[in-house]
Amino acid sequence: MRPVYLDNNATTRVSEEVVSAMLPFFTAQFGNASSMHTFGSEVGGAVKNARGQLQKLIGAAHDHEIVYTSCGTESDNMAILSALETQVGRNEVVTSVVEHPAVLALCDYLEKTRGIKIHRIPVDAKGRLDVDAYRKALGPKTAIASIMWANNETGTIFPIARLAELAHEAGALFHTDAVQAVGKITINVADSEIDMLSLSGHKLHAPKGIGALYVRRGVRLRPMLRGGHQERGRRAGTENAPSIIGLGKAAELALEYMNDEQTRVRALRDRLEDGILQRVANCFVTGDVEHRLPNTANIAFEYIEGEGILLMLNKAGIAASSGSACTSGSLEPSHVLRAMKVPYTAAHGAIRFSFSRENTEEDVDRVIEAVPSIIAKLREMSPFWKGEENTTAFQPTYA
Ligand code: PLP
Repeated sequence: MRPVYLDNNATTRVSEEVVSAMLPFFTAQFGNASSMHTFGSEVGGAVKNARGQLQKLIGAAHDHEIVYTSCGTESDNMAILSALETQVGRNEVVTSVVEHPAVLALCDYLEKTRGIKIHRIPVDAKGRLDVDAYRKALGPKTAIASIMWANNETGTIFPIARLAELAHEAGALFHTDAVQAVGKITINVADSEIDMLSLSGHKLHAPKGIGALYVRRGVRLRPMLRGGHQERGRRAGTENAPSIIGLGKAAELALEYMNDEQTRVRALRDRLEDGILQRVANCFVTGDVEHRLPNTANIAFEYIEGEGILLMLNKAGIAASSGSACTSGSLEPSHVLRAMKVPYTAAHGAIRFSFSRENTEEDVDRVIEAVPSIIAKLREMSPFWKGEENTTAFQPTYA
């Protein structure tokens, strides 16, 4: 039986069209994009075309506002580190408690090693940012506010346009980690006050190892890597031409499929949620259900461990995830669900199902069929479900 892949927020399959677009640039057109001869200029032209394709997907005004990087993590690091250098006299960062480790781990490091003050803004039980606390944290010392566009675990979407305006009112730069949003929802940076935006190829059917940072014209960027003049001196290193070209094709396809993502993919996600909620007791959807990515469902099953569910799903040929890929394998519930104060009895059993345009109704039906018996089996073994053990042991108090 065909395996069912519902872990597209972790990574996506590279599209055949993307592979076909990339292949010539490994062998026939292998030149260095910066070289003066035909080998180089052909590749340079294709890279320029790809930059235009990506520009269109995010609605940037100029193609040179895109700086290619190796991944979303690099883009996030570059945006924050650069702001702390270019925003003279400002040494504070405002971010949220539910960011990806690509932002949070860097902030922890900056706090410990450089004395940078980090404001980590809380979220409510639905994962919505406390905008009042955000506004109060911004001030004359804020170098940059960095808030993700959409959360990777719950799909919750933040009011990015408003958050960017508030950052500017305080004279700070605004960066958004849009790694999960790009390609899934319409983005138009030119119409917003966003200064920098991170994205990653492997989340939208392009290869791993390619990302980009959008940098609005006029915003100064201090490079992390120094060397050659690639990317207008903003990111040294010979361009990864095949992957840049692949990302361009993936961006073109994402635009083509945007309507499909908003309608068919959303309907598949909703069908899965309804199917599971109808058949399984003591489970609920986490996150801001009304303001969510169309492809993400995060369902918390009470009194069982997510790891057990994942293993049994995997045995049934179904791939999903417990929280983010980075936290799976650890026994602590994810930092996102903890920040939302989802009870530990449920946060431990949270499973993320994330769709792509490659999923079908048949996939959904397979999952709806498999999940109830998996949950029943695990609950039969759970002392918490059977009331043999006090659930408070499973439920430390939230600080
Ligand atoms: N930001 C978010 C929201 C993500 O979901 C991820 C990856 O899961 C990243 C950043 C890191 O992206 P990359 O894997 O390209 O470094």
